[in-house]
Amino acid sequence: MPVRATRRGPQRTSLDGRRADVLVCGASFAGLAVARELADAGADVLVVDRYEIGERATSACAAPTPWLHAMGVAGAIRQELETMTFATPHGRVRYRLPWSWSAFDYRDLCRRLWAQCGDARFETAKVDGRAGAPGAGAPAEIEVATDRGTLRAPLVVDALGWRRVLAAAHYQPPDAPLSRGLEVHPRRAAPGGESLDVWIERGLVRRGYAWRVPAGGEARIGVGSYVPADHVRAPTEALAGRLGEPAERWQGNWFPHRLRSATQDGVFCAGDSAGHCFPLSGEGIRTAFYFGIACGRELRRVLAAEASRAEALARYEAFHDRHAPAFRRALALQRLIPALPPRALTALLHALRPQPVIDRAFGWYLDQAHPSFAV
Ligand SMILES: Cc1cc2nc3c(=O)[nH]c(=O)nc-3n(C[C@H](O)[C@H](O)[C@H](O)COP(=O)(O)OP(=O)(O)OC[C@H]3O[C@@H](n4cnc5c(N)ncnc54)[C@H](O)[C@@H]3O)c2cc1C
Repeated sequence: MPVRATRRGPQRTSLDGRRADVLVCGASFAGLAVARELADAGADVLVVDRYEIGERATSACAAPTPWLHAMGVAGAIRQELETMTFATPHGRVRYRLPWSWSAFDYRDLCRRLWAQCGDARFETAKVDGRAGAPGAGAPAEIEVATDRGTLRAPLVVDALGWRRVLAAAHYQPPDAPLSRGLEVHPRRAAPGGESLDVWIERGLVRRGYAWRVPAGGEARIGVGSYVPADHVRAPTEALAGRLGEPAERWQGNWFPHRLRSATQDGVFCAGDSAGHCFPLSGEGIRTAFYFGIACGRELRRVLAAEASRAEALARYEAFHDRHAPAFRRALALQRLIPALPPRALTALLHALRPQPVIDRAFGWYLDQAHPSFAV
């Protein structure tokens, strides 16, 4: 059993009435990217999460290596993966990407991000939603209800993941544009020279894909379904069995495949909370960093009295909107690819093999949220 550091019982003193200049709700990829951007802004930044920082991972934790360097967290890398393989029932191709993936340790990465967050304070608290009168719109001081009391700040970020707890209406699976993912983390010796493996097999998952991410002393083997009603436990067990690995150390979550608005009633939303997870690939770490940084930069302008909150909200929403075409394209591919006859899909994967084609396709993909943005 993992050791939990989250405060319990009497340690959970009241925070009622606590005020901050910026309240960041959620201390995972998006929330920490926002707080990191505010490190030397001279503001009182309060970050809250229901768990201690880095305590509970919900992802295979693979991200483009250049992003991990750009964020100053390369020390959390457990294994670099320079190639990807794609397998269908009719064949297998291996691509050498123009950039590599790296599998990292979630706790280590979060701690490294937090170390870059300057004087920001952290409290464990479960966020229940907006406090105050319903339909109050966007008051100058936004009140957030938590299990440790009501917190207040003029600048509030919802980085709480797909549920977007500060929204008036929450997404409810399976009737929401969410995918579901589940994986096991068997321990293993690291043979090296491995790739990030992807299976597109209707026999495993009707609309979705399966993966194996080697990560040093463990592998992350899982299945994602674009159809939220389809279960993924049995296919995950089947894939682990096929790979000769025990189905142990489970974790899973929902992840969005459609953008939502990036702001709501005066609140900034970043990461899965705004749907910033690429459809098709289900890649949401890099984009949580990317939009978290963009959000943090807008907040800095308000703190420096260079913009009002309303202007910052509008600029952030416009930045988000400029990325909508790429997300729409990925969603179209998410619908198209599972519908292709498996032999046609295999032929297509082979046709993409020439290195210039791969460089171009994966170069475009990285450009949609490029690591140079972090620097
Ligand atoms: C099985 C699986 C594997 C995945 N693998 C990858 C991968 O390898 N690479 C990749 O790029 N993406 C992957 N994804 C997607 C990725 O995990 C998400 O897109 C990413 O985590 C989004 O980051 P975030 O910070 O927006 O939200 P999250 O990481 O979901 O963080 C939300 C934070 O808010 C906290 N929180 C939630 N509700 C409350 C509350 N009520 N009160 C207080 N705190 C709360 C949570 O504890 C958490 O710390 C995977 C998803 C799944 C399900």
